[in-house]
Amino acid sequence: MLTGKRAVITGSTSGIGLAIARELASNGANVVINGFGDAAAIEKERVNLELEFDIKAYYINADLMQAGATRDFISASAQALGGIDILVNNAGIQHTDLIEDFPTDRWDAIIALNLSAVFHGTAAALPYMKKQGWGRIINIASVHGLVGSVNKSAYIAAKHGVVGLTKVTALENAGNGVTCNAICPGWVRTPLVEKQIDALAQKSGISVEDAAIEMLTEKQPSLQFVTPKQLGGAAVFLASEAADQMTGTTLTLDGGWTAR
Ligand code: NAD
Repeated sequence: MLTGKRAVITGSTSGIGLAIARELASNGANVVINGFGDAAAIEKERVNLELEFDIKAYYINADLMQAGATRDFISASAQALGGIDILVNNAGIQHTDLIEDFPTDRWDAIIALNLSAVFHGTAAALPYMKKQGWGRIINIASVHGLVGSVNKSAYIAAKHGVVGLTKVTALENAGNGVTCNAICPGWVRTPLVEKQIDALAQKSGISVEDAAIEMLTEKQPSLQFVTPKQLGGAAVFLASEAADQMTGTTLTLDGGWTAR
């Protein structure tokens, strides 16, 4: 149980982040959610979290591609929650292209959000955690933090960077009660992946469902998508006492992707 723990989850208005916020809240944590989207829909999610799980939920908007905004977001979250115990660095975007065709602005945006925001968020949250002698930093990396694929240079460079940053964060805090680990999901059917499925369907002239099966067949031997809720369960485990001595490592939920 995480009763009363104060958790900040970036990019949690959708997909994996929202499911992680829900699983942490269902275990008793108060949460800050963040991300873009329709204001009324976000407010509905926030209220649902409070009513369903009897916790406090706050929404704090910030463009985490900006270093200053990311650090300010952490301060504002700490102020709302009265401190920070758990930081889930989850916000991320994707763009696919060959290296020589990859637009510079897409490279910069992916590095800014998928890697630099993890650094700035961690740097801003660590003082709160170190002072109280307890903290959990959970970075949502990817199987693409462990292995490569074509057309995803920026994403894969950023996610490998996140796995490296996870190790340094763990080492700098070893023994002081603050752990840092990365979760590495395979394919999860969120809006981020739905776009890739649609693009494949269009390119190959096949149905969206056939494109989803083709993507799984290429990479994920279980032929099943990882669910956002399963990733929420992994985050709850990393935040639990059972994971006190787990730090600087990766937890991979990928239906066998990286086993071959
Ligand atoms: P998603 O598109 O469903 O959600 C992304 C979230 O990030 C949204 O809440 C969005 O509003 C927010 N966001 C986007 N730009 C932002 C910005 N500039 N500032 C703040 N928030 C911003 O994506 P998802 O699939 O849930 O991805 C979440 C994380 O999981 C990402 O880091 C992604 O790389 C990682 N991941 C996803 C998969 C997958 O198959 N879906 C696999 C491995 C890793």
